[in-house]
Amino acid sequence: MRIKIRNTLRFQSSETAHFYYLWDHTGFRMGQTSKNIAIVGSGLVGTLLAIYLRQAGHRVTVFDRRPDIRTIEFSGRSINLAMSDRGWKALDGAGIGPEIRKMGIPLKQRAMHVNGKPVYYQKYGKDGEAIWSISRGILNRKMIDLAEQAGTVFKFNEKVWDVDLPTATLYTGETEKGVWESYAFDHVFGCDGAFSRVRHKMQRRSRFNYSQDFIEVGYKELTIPPNPDGTHKIDKNSFHIWPRGSFMFIAMPNLDGSFTCTLFLPFEGPVSFEQLQSRSDIRTFFTENFPDVTPVIDNLSEDFLINPTSALVTIKCFPWTYWDKVALVGDAAHAVVPFFGQGMNAGFEDISQLMALMEQYGDDWERIFSTYQEERKPNADAIAELSYRNFVEMSTRTADPEFLLQKKIENHFATRFPDKWIPAYSRVTFSEQSYSEALSIGDRQEAIMKEIMKMPQIQTRWDQPEVSQRILELLEDS
Ligand SMILES: Cc1cc2nc3c(=O)[nH]c(=O)nc-3n(C[C@H](O)[C@H](O)[C@H](O)COP(=O)(O)OP(=O)(O)OC[C@H]3O[C@@H](n4cnc5c(N)ncnc54)[C@H](O)[C@@H]3O)c2cc1C
Repeated sequence: MRIKIRNTLRFQSSETAHFYYLWDHTGFRMGQTSKNIAIVGSGLVGTLLAIYLRQAGHRVTVFDRRPDIRTIEFSGRSINLAMSDRGWKALDGAGIGPEIRKMGIPLKQRAMHVNGKPVYYQKYGKDGEAIWSISRGILNRKMIDLAEQAGTVFKFNEKVWDVDLPTATLYTGETEKGVWESYAFDHVFGCDGAFSRVRHKMQRRSRFNYSQDFIEVGYKELTIPPNPDGTHKIDKNSFHIWPRGSFMFIAMPNLDGSFTCTLFLPFEGPVSFEQLQSRSDIRTFFTENFPDVTPVIDNLSEDFLINPTSALVTIKCFPWTYWDKVALVGDAAHAVVPFFGQGMNAGFEDISQLMALMEQYGDDWERIFSTYQEERKPNADAIAELSYRNFVEMSTRTADPEFLLQKKIENHFATRFPDKWIPAYSRVTFSEQSYSEALSIGDRQEAIMKEIMKMPQIQTRWDQPEVSQRILELLEDS
């Protein structure tokens, strides 16, 4: 085994030094002294942060243990993400929203597929409001391009295995027993995802709180291919959901006419991944539960057997920062289950908040970091809770006639009194209201709707003025 111990480098490659000089003297916009900053992780959050930090005049190096995703062949059909207002705000703030919009498809409604009934459409918000379906892999490639164009230095295939927190020094390589390098920076941002190495180092300190909760449901991706002429096989401007109680299937469109589909299903139990072992088990399960879509899924049983079954986790921790040296951003600080489509959006909002604090506090990084974690943590906890509740709602309640009636009443009232009732989904997805406020207003609305659903003959009276009047009264009282 070859052991190489290097002197710690103040990292700045000579090719980029000239560019830094130019950038520092033209792009400086935060009123901060230019710093030497490392970002661990070239995912969506790390790359967007890199773009902002470059725009603020800092020198930025991004490390990733993976190879450059732009050099890896993939079909372009990775996980699809729903980008909503918080994500767009952060992208627009960096001036890259218009380019990214070209890579997405706006979805203005849910298309609910209930067996034996026609497809039922539920608009997401007001006219013009939509979430956007974007391929995570394609978006990540683009974000790396944009960060590189902004002058970020990328170091791929370079895994960070340790961090010295007080000196913001990164150690890369495999372990201390192998070949390794060290680099000292002014600040380090841990954007290295749910199983963050940077956080792992912080976890070893006293009074660091950490929890991880896996849900009993996992997921598997499948594909609906395009029609021969490149068009989509089902409505392309809808988020398709097949809710089936303890499990569900969803489909989101891609620009090439295909759909990325995800089956969410318990790992174990009577209806579960463990029961679907043979091609015939898989075919029977799909034909019984999703008869309208099964014929158009590509290589159903082959893909089902080959594609991985992945787990879903909520991760919480605190603190998120170490002095003015190290900060966690995105999934590294708060991973949530994907049922509100907010994980990346929340990570992007972390960045919007960090940038606002940098503008406010200039070179006082200690204050920037401490305010960031204090203000952001309650919101991260709130979106974790909202995401979990939406998992329950999407998988069980969306097939329940009582729930559909409740939603119909809420929508009816919200249309008549738009300033009095903004549905929880809209507050999270189409507004900048804090996640914690969205959660507490959502709780009040749910309590009101519980009362309304108890009104006699609500099934037939749901659109009568007395129902709206009662909601107004309950709103007054709450
Ligand atoms: C099924 C599913 C659906 C989702 N849908 C949505 C959605 O609709 N909308 C939404 O907003 N969010 C969604 N999300 C969440 C979203 O994907 C994540 O929140 C987002 O990708 C997190 O980005 P990140 O940059 O923080 O972390 P990651 O994307 O995990 O990136 C971390 C990077 O760090 C690198 N890294 C890790 N360890 C090291 C190390 N030791 N050294 C160097 N590099 C390292 C990794 O290689 C990786 O490139 C979904 C997630 C899942 C699983």
